[in-house]
Amino acid sequence: MFPLTNQVLHKTVNNPVTDLHDRSSCFTRLARLASQATPERPPAIIWISLDRIKQINESFGHQGGDVFIAQITRRLLCKTGTEALWCRMAGDEFVCLVPAVDSVQTQHLASSLLNEIQIPLPLNNLLLHPSASLGFAILGADETPSDCLERADRAMNTAKRAGGGRVVAADPESIPGRMGICLPRHELEIENKLHSAIDQSGLSLHYQPIVDTDGQIVSVEALMRCTSHKLSPGEFIPIAEKTGLITRLGEWSLLEGARFAQRLVMAGHRTPVAINVSRAQFALPHFPQSLHAALLCANVNPGLIELELTESLFMDNSSVVQSNLRAALDSGVKIAIDDFGTGFSCLATLKDITATKLKIDRAFVIALPHDHRAFSVVRAIAQLGVDLGMLVVAEGVESHEQLDSLREAGVHAIQGYIHARPMPENILLEWLQNRKTT
Ligand code: C2E
Ligand code: CA
Ligand code: CA
Repeated sequence: MFPLTNQVLHKTVNNPVTDLHDRSSCFTRLARLASQATPERPPAIIWISLDRIKQINESFGHQGGDVFIAQITRRLLCKTGTEALWCRMAGDEFVCLVPAVDSVQTQHLASSLLNEIQIPLPLNNLLLHPSASLGFAILGADETPSDCLERADRAMNTAKRAGGGRVVAADPESIPGRMGICLPRHELEIENKLHSAIDQSGLSLHYQPIVDTDGQIVSVEALMRCTSHKLSPGEFIPIAEKTGLITRLGEWSLLEGARFAQRLVMAGHRTPVAINVSRAQFALPHFPQSLHAALLCANVNPGLIELELTESLFMDNSSVVQSNLRAALDSGVKIAIDDFGTGFSCLATLKDITATKLKIDRAFVIALPHDHRAFSVVRAIAQLGVDLGMLVVAEGVESHEQLDSLREAGVHAIQGYIHARPMPENILLEWLQNRKTT
């Protein structure tokens, strides 16, 4: 049997949502469970994904969603008792590790967990009918724990695709990775590297200037780099978002970016620093405190900090996001709408956003100057930005033809290789100095 310490049990029962084991410790615990098992009594994995959680978040806000998940988690923990070990793999996905069982027992347990989940649950005067998709797998004799986990995950996805509200037993055949590609293992490797980069100070920020049509530097954007493990943001940001690590990375980049803004002032450049803030980070109830702490630690004028938020975030009507937006503006920092044009923005929402900058996504810029339809869209966005009092920036500008076309469309400022690539701090300082003197 796997020993579940009283401390762990106490923690998980007290605060089921936040104190479950996380995704990475799931692997450690599963490996330990596997090493303690006998071939006759292998461990089982039940992967649970709650159905329609998005609808619950949209109807009750993220706080309501959290209450919902906490209540379901409490039910699950009570049902399995001390034998099983619970891990939270994602917002609405859980894994139950069960020592020494057979297939019939696991099927029985999974069905009883589904029954437990499906008991109607009252939330804000409404009776909800929760549901979930469950997949389970029993560790095979020659199988690695992560392959088994993958089979359970795939079975859960099969249950989900079939409409949810059911239990599916995993296929005994082990195919590497979701959809037949070795993605999960590759993702785990990146996650591992990210953890060690955080521990070994292997992260840094590079800065890319944004230049207006008169050649003035409007601001610099802070872009994260994982120098210790040579990972590109395209590789590690999606994994950080998937695993929740993005909030740690984001808090680090907020503090570092704010400190750099103050160093720029000391070096004689009152250049605002734009910092990317992910949706997950911005939706944290304690985001205003983190922002306040970063501004205070950096001892920087908040007007020199700009938060880049993707446009879809502004469509989030949850009370946490809305109150964080107000708190950010109250603190004196500026807000920029990032990747504009990619997130199905609703123009009705745009009119209510108190942003000072609107960044047109590179997808539009690539099409210029030849694509007339893209040009019309860019021109309309530029006009919209002017009317709403925002500075319009085009991202990813590489050629003079694109630059001319963007100027003609009425875009105010440019970010792209045509001016400079993202640079380490010391190089950027030299770059700024050279522009001042020439
Ligand atoms: P983004 O916020 O849209 O940042 C602009 C991206 O365009 C950067 O990619 C930048 O290097 C790239 N870029 C700039 N000019 C050009 C150009 O002329 N041509 C081309 N091809 N690319 C150009 P990067 O640095 O790889 O970052 C990718 C994304 O990762 C960022 O997109 C942002 O969404 C995310 N990211 C980076 N740093 C952070 C961070 O600190 N926090 C969060 N949450 N996300 C970050
Ligand atoms: Ca950005
Ligand atoms: Ca962008």
